[in-house]
Amino acid sequence: MKAHFKRRLPLHSQTVQAIIEKFCAPIDGVHTKRKNGDKRAGHPYCQRHYRFRRYFNPIFKGQAIKIQGQPLLLPRGWGPEPIRGHLPEAMPTGRVVQAELGFGELYLTITQELAEPVFPESGKVGGLDIGVIPLGMVSDGEAAIAVSSRGLRSVKQGRAKAQATLRKKRARTKPGSRRRKRLNRSRYRTSQKVERIIRNALHHAANQIVAFCLAYGITVLYTGDLGTLNDKKRHRRSRRTNQEVGALEFGRFEQYLEYKLRRHGIPLITISEADTFGTCPHCDYLNKVAGRTYHCRACDYRAHRDGVGAVNILNKGMHSGEIRPRGAVSTPTDHVSPSRSPPGNAKA
Ligand SMILES: [Zn+2]
Repeated sequence: MKAHFKRRLPLHSQTVQAIIEKFCAPIDGVHTKRKNGDKRAGHPYCQRHYRFRRYFNPIFKGQAIKIQGQPLLLPRGWGPEPIRGHLPEAMPTGRVVQAELGFGELYLTITQELAEPVFPESGKVGGLDIGVIPLGMVSDGEAAIAVSSRGLRSVKQGRAKAQATLRKKRARTKPGSRRRKRLNRSRYRTSQKVERIIRNALHHAANQIVAFCLAYGITVLYTGDLGTLNDKKRHRRSRRTNQEVGALEFGRFEQYLEYKLRRHGIPLITISEADTFGTCPHCDYLNKVAGRTYHCRACDYRAHRDGVGAVNILNKGMHSGEIRPRGAVSTPTDHVSPSRSPPGNAKA
């Protein structure tokens, strides 16, 4: 295609290439999916919900864009005059690598070189337990904050319900009918919308944890290894809960946290979660945990279960992967109360 369209269109050669690449990307995606054993993967143009696209937004690549002062010049190759555009006064700094021309809109892709953050050698340590309910609990040994996942779960339940209704309606329609097409589109739209809501909630949740770290001066944050989460944490939670907040969300949540913390020079270090659920932060006795509240059989210590997890992860992080008795509690005479939340308790 690239050879065929070379010098045939009144567009810059890189624009032509970019359009061909954009056009071919979903087709290539289907090929790799089929190669990897997904027999049901269909080409986008064959899928009924996908409407035929008459227009493609032309893409202008970095080397081709010329910004001489203010007006933006989008070159059109050998023949016609370049397209002129005006950039706003307040432009983010950085290099324009790509411009996409839409209907009455211009999308610019701008890259910024960020200096690699310098992580401190030592400092105040925090522990983070990522779970289902709550989504995350972070502690510095004295205070703790729990980020609720209730909103996230309700959105997911809502989606499941809406999709069930749509499925039922869809079953009553004939294949290829207008009604069915409309229902397919509607299903696609709802799932897209829910995806956006989930992403937004995860970003807010991650921001809450970052805010806690900053407010309490945490410079290094430890978290449990999510790799073992699928085997270990899954066992201690009901199947229904596992379905509600999947492993995918945890990975994404961790990713968001990692880059948000990095901006403030806080590294997110993963350590093994072994024994972090059961060990009593007060007397070091290894308990079996059931229910939401942690209760130590040896010393009658009670606390929020995920708070105990966070404190134990903190303990491990402070003592190179080893839980020391009361290792995370700075005031030994005082019961650590991980469920105590600072003002501005997070609800994600
Ligand atoms: Zn105890």
